[in-house]
Amino acid sequence: MNPHDEPARKLIEHIFLKHQDDGMDCDSCGCQLECLAEKVAAGASLHDLWPEVEAHLVCCRDCREEWQALLCIVQAEMRGELDKDVP
Ligand SMILES: [Zn+2]
Repeated sequence: MNPHDEPARKLIEHIFLKHQDDGMDCDSCGCQLECLAEKVAAGASLHDLWPEVEAHLVCCRDCREEWQALLCIVQAEMRGELDKDVP
């Protein structure tokens, strides 16, 4: 084994295990984001809906960026719809 690879591998393992400790990995988190974004945009709290996902978003930048992008899209869609009913 190349000794230079060892620290990087340890780091990757550490990050991966840290995510597993959250009870949520990027795949299972990503699958839920779209559905959760709709509920949160409608006024629900992510913390109440799925605390594990919220915890994962705090520690995972990739998923957090995906989440924020999704939430922006859903909120924009909702604002478009709400314009009809709300003055
Ligand atoms: Zn993630």
